[in-house]
Amino acid sequence: MSAEIKLRTKGEGDVRDITADAAKAVSDSKVKDGIATIFVVGSTAAITTLEFEPGLVADMRGAAERLFPKGIEYEHHRRWDDGNGRSHVRAAFVGPSVTIPIVKGRLALGTWQQIILLEYDVRPRERTVVVQVVGR
Ligand code: ZN
Repeated sequence: MSAEIKLRTKGEGDVRDITADAAKAVSDSKVKDGIATIFVVGSTAAITTLEFEPGLVADMRGAAERLFPKGIEYEHHRRWDDGNGRSHVRAAFVGPSVTIPIVKGRLALGTWQQIILLEYDVRPRERTVVVQVVGR
């Protein structure tokens, strides 16, 4: 079964908790034992898990800036001049999806482990997250 989560982000640095939407897709599927893949369409956003609290959200922004800073040259800019080379590189390093086991009909997440979407693009974007549930 597949479901889609649609959201509009505020652009670079926006971090959104999509756990409840993913959990709803899993419960709608009626799958008790299986896996769910949660995948964002597009190459300038990423999905991972995090304890969703303001300190860690700020830490993730800081880490992205230290690893892939704004003020350096990106070859992508020379080719396309769209100013988001760092967005693509940040998104690629985190990755576009997570796969989470479903046990007894629920995502096997820890209490302090939320599924988050990281927006890295330099402008607000309409995002589609595909949740695909496989199991029985
Ligand atoms: Zn680009």
